[in-house]
Amino acid sequence: MTERPIILWFRQDLRLGDNPALAAAVESGAPILPVFILDDETPGKWAPGGASRWWLHQSLDALQQSLAALDCPLLLRRGTAAETIRTLAAETGARAVYWNRCYEPFAVRRDAALKSALKEDRIEAESFNAALLFEPWQVKTKTGTPPKVYSPYWRAMRLLGDPAPEGAAPQAIPRPAKVLAGDQLDDWNLQPCDPDWASGFSELWQPSEQGGLDQFDEFLENALDGYKTGRDFPSRSLVSRLSPHLHFGEIGPRQVWHRTVAHCITTGRDPFSGSAEHFLKELVWREFSHAQLYYNPDLPDACLRPEYERFPWDRAEKPLRAWQRGKTGIPIVDAGMRELWQTGYMHNRVRMICASFLVKHLMVDWRAGEAWFWDTLVDADLANNAASWQWVAGSGADAAPYFRIFNPVLQGEKFDKDGAYTRHWVPELSEVPDRYLHKPWEAPGNPAPDYPDPIVDLAFGRDRALTAFKRLNDGLSSDIAACA
Ligand SMILES: Cc1cc2nc3c(=O)[nH]c(=O)nc-3n(C[C@H](O)[C@H](O)[C@H](O)COP(=O)(O)OP(=O)(O)OC[C@H]3O[C@@H](n4cnc5c(N)ncnc54)[C@H](O)[C@@H]3O)c2cc1C
Repeated sequence: MTERPIILWFRQDLRLGDNPALAAAVESGAPILPVFILDDETPGKWAPGGASRWWLHQSLDALQQSLAALDCPLLLRRGTAAETIRTLAAETGARAVYWNRCYEPFAVRRDAALKSALKEDRIEAESFNAALLFEPWQVKTKTGTPPKVYSPYWRAMRLLGDPAPEGAAPQAIPRPAKVLAGDQLDDWNLQPCDPDWASGFSELWQPSEQGGLDQFDEFLENALDGYKTGRDFPSRSLVSRLSPHLHFGEIGPRQVWHRTVAHCITTGRDPFSGSAEHFLKELVWREFSHAQLYYNPDLPDACLRPEYERFPWDRAEKPLRAWQRGKTGIPIVDAGMRELWQTGYMHNRVRMICASFLVKHLMVDWRAGEAWFWDTLVDADLANNAASWQWVAGSGADAAPYFRIFNPVLQGEKFDKDGAYTRHWVPELSEVPDRYLHKPWEAPGNPAPDYPDPIVDLAFGRDRALTAFKRLNDGLSSDIAACA
């Protein structure tokens, strides 16, 4: 009699190293059937966007190759994931299904229901943590509640000690005797063809487990030391660009944590001061965002502070379109939006400037910006994206106060002083002298004739937003007064 296999369901954990579900399956000694399911139904409107689909194709291609090198092919199936898993379990007589946990609300609901259904079918269902340093429910304040703001989150997490150690990649994976028919990756049409807007992505990214590890090694060697002071300057290569690798689970946060600490120790640095600590703290912003999503499943769709639902958003198409296309006439904003379109990435400082400009100067609903980022970022991540947009809009946990409105001219002058970043992405500005680069409308002699005028007068936009936010807050205070 052939031994009943364990189905290993790959999701956002596209790696062999430090993969606890895979390690547990290998440890059991049973034959392993690795599967990836393309499911566009369960996530609803949060099915992967265009740039994520491009990444997913490359990443699955790489995972197929890594598994093939261990003589254990990756099965591809398409359909509603829970049903597909149950069908597959019946088809193979599987004894168990193992997976690493995801934290999107639709995934949490689906996995809980699937676990019960499999148990009824007398099939073991086991889930593991590959995506976070600690589970959201492990990180608590002294009173046992989940921290609502970042600093207490960091402190509470540090009190838990070091994250679990990094697990090794298996040397061999036993495969089941029976070969099953699956889909061909190319038939999923995950990559754009006409027009091929992702043609420039491959020069910049290497979506794969190896690509993530290489990228990280390079960051540790060449950029970590300058991270704290340099991370805000978009033309300097002093950030890790690990976000898509982390999102797809090609590298895990525990690997990032332990390798950063080890690198510091071997090079005689303190991992918990200066640049290294700053970097680890950014990694923990990712944890904090996931905890926010876990405890607030509406985070991507509804203002965490409900009063913000009454904000008078501008619903006109024109400002949003100009922003999406990088044609607002505000140089640093247009540079960021064009970087995003051409590379699937935008530097964090510029993300904050572009998001603030959209929500505050243009008064466009943060959810329209969130949706655009969802479609165009290769690192689009429901937790990080939603939490960050709500942070910028002022409607989220630990959010920027409403009166903090970035001035994109001053931001440009501070963080892209020589204009290297802005000129690279907005070549129409190449002839504008440095002094006017971030406010070309003031330059004498019209040195950028092909560049649009600002879509909004910045002082007017700022005042309009401040007035609207103040009214919202005053209305709130009068509501409170009326109730008192
Ligand atoms: C409006 C807006 C939308 C965003 N959308 C996303 C998104 O969809 N996906 C995403 O991964 N990040 C998002 N971010 C957070 C941040 O901009 C990116 O994580 C970061 O720019 C990725 O570049 P990096 O890997 O070089 O970061 P590094 O500076 O090298 O940081 C290392 C890692 O820490 C995590 N991290 C860093 N900053 C943050 C942060 N503010 N919040 C959460 N995690 C963080 C990321 O996983 C990142 O890869 C968004 C930020 C803003 C302002």
